[in-house]
Amino acid sequence: MSNDIAASTLLAPTMLTEDTWDVVVLGTGVSGSAAAVTVARSGARVLWIEKSAEPGGSAALSAGLFWTAPNVRAYLDRIPLGNQSLAERLITDYPEALAEIRSTGITVADTPKHGVMTFGIGYKLDIRALLTWCRETVTANGGMLLTQTTATEIITDDERVTGVRLRTAEGEYFDVHAGAVVLATGGFQGDPEELSRHMGPNSDRLKLRSNAGSVGDGLRMARAVGAAATKGMSTFYGHLVPAPLRNFEPADYLPLAQFYSSHTVLLNGAGVRFCDETQGDEILNQELARQPGARGVLVFDDAVRWNAAREEPEPGLGAVDRIAAATGAGARYSTANTVEAALAPIEAWGFDSARASRTLMDYRRAIETGRRFADGVPVAESASPPMTAPFHVLEVQPTITFTLGGIRIDASGRVLDHDGAPIAGLFAAGADIGGISNYGYAGGLAPGYITGRWAGSSAARHAATGTAAGNR
Ligand SMILES: Cc1cc2nc3c(=O)[nH]c(=O)nc-3n(C[C@H](O)[C@H](O)[C@H](O)COP(=O)(O)OP(=O)(O)OC[C@H]3O[C@@H](n4cnc5c(N)ncnc54)[C@H](O)[C@@H]3O)c2cc1C
Repeated sequence: MSNDIAASTLLAPTMLTEDTWDVVVLGTGVSGSAAAVTVARSGARVLWIEKSAEPGGSAALSAGLFWTAPNVRAYLDRIPLGNQSLAERLITDYPEALAEIRSTGITVADTPKHGVMTFGIGYKLDIRALLTWCRETVTANGGMLLTQTTATEIITDDERVTGVRLRTAEGEYFDVHAGAVVLATGGFQGDPEELSRHMGPNSDRLKLRSNAGSVGDGLRMARAVGAAATKGMSTFYGHLVPAPLRNFEPADYLPLAQFYSSHTVLLNGAGVRFCDETQGDEILNQELARQPGARGVLVFDDAVRWNAAREEPEPGLGAVDRIAAATGAGARYSTANTVEAALAPIEAWGFDSARASRTLMDYRRAIETGRRFADGVPVAESASPPMTAPFHVLEVQPTITFTLGGIRIDASGRVLDHDGAPIAGLFAAGADIGGISNYGYAGGLAPGYITGRWAGSSAARHAATGTAAGNR
């Protein structure tokens, strides 16, 4: 850590402008870390830029589960709107990336976890140790990391990227020259304007569950030099959290996530179901965001309350009594010996309790009679209606951890324009790119790390040859 430097603490940040770097990497999350380490280990000179005082982005807040789809078929089943060519290379590269991480000596679980987010496979690893190892390796190989320095603009000479404009914490601007630039700024979840542009007015109701620095800088800088965006710009990853909440700080992000919601019935303010709950919490989270007022209640029975709502959702994520954590954080919660009595208080919360009771009755009847729809909403074969008293009701709201749509790239990490042609010298990775996840979610850390390697190796090669061709 001692090698991190704030640009403003350099005697003259402008001295950097006299230098030409092979590659400038923007962002120190998992994707920027993989890109910077890949560049540095290739022998190229890397300048690494981080807006915040502390490096690591959302990756440093994460649970460290390094996972993605087990194969392309499972990927397409779960994410039919995903980009198959990106997914194919992601899945192919996963074993090599995992082996590279193991070779650093950081702690990685010996056995994989299957069924992550219903379909994925992955390993729990010490993500903070990995980020530290990347920083030490970059600086040991002659790279320089500047913190509290914000990239504001990609500089081009009309044919290719030639550098990047940076701003110190004091507001001083300076330009650095580079053969290539890698965008790894973590998505646009922190920017209300980008969110409402792509997701509509309810995006204002999304609670931010992310590092604070990812506000769409990568997307805007790429757009300004002609980059195209992907499909899925209105889709995002996050988890339901209790409502209301007195506070919502990074330390709350994991214990307040309602990972068990696929075992509940989710109702909106009108007291009606609107999606198949068994799809998983990250899907319910997006669906609730589209409901009026983005407010909902989870209805579940005592078996769920004392089992799924208390168990460790994935190995290493820790067992938490999520209902105790929710009520302790200020959420509205009700429990009673009948579903009707448990739902009665929600009238005072602004929900239609009579309609909610009817929805629950109809839902139970649909399951008992083997109907696949209740009130026009799908009922999965594996759906579990609340059966065991007492019954429980918890108010919930949606969050956003990162955006799933983003900058369009090819499977070498090259940023593409609207005609599908690469923008010479510009590369992107991680949550800044779109295409791999689209409504369905294929993981954050592993896709970030692996696309960071693509962008880093292509950028280093581009800087060495001065050409966007032959990047793979
Ligand atoms: C609580 C939580 C738990 C999670 N758990 C998991 C998990 O177990 N498994 C999993 O797969 N995923 C998980 N994720 C998601 C995962 O953390 C993200 O998908 C991943 O960190 C994205 O990596 P990234 O490098 O693209 O962005 P980030 O890690 O967010 O890093 C982006 C960085 O760019 C910096 N930046 C932004 N703008 C600029 C600029 N203009 N100039 C310079 N720097 C800039 C930001 O300050 C930030 O440091 C979790 C996320 C959270 C919040």
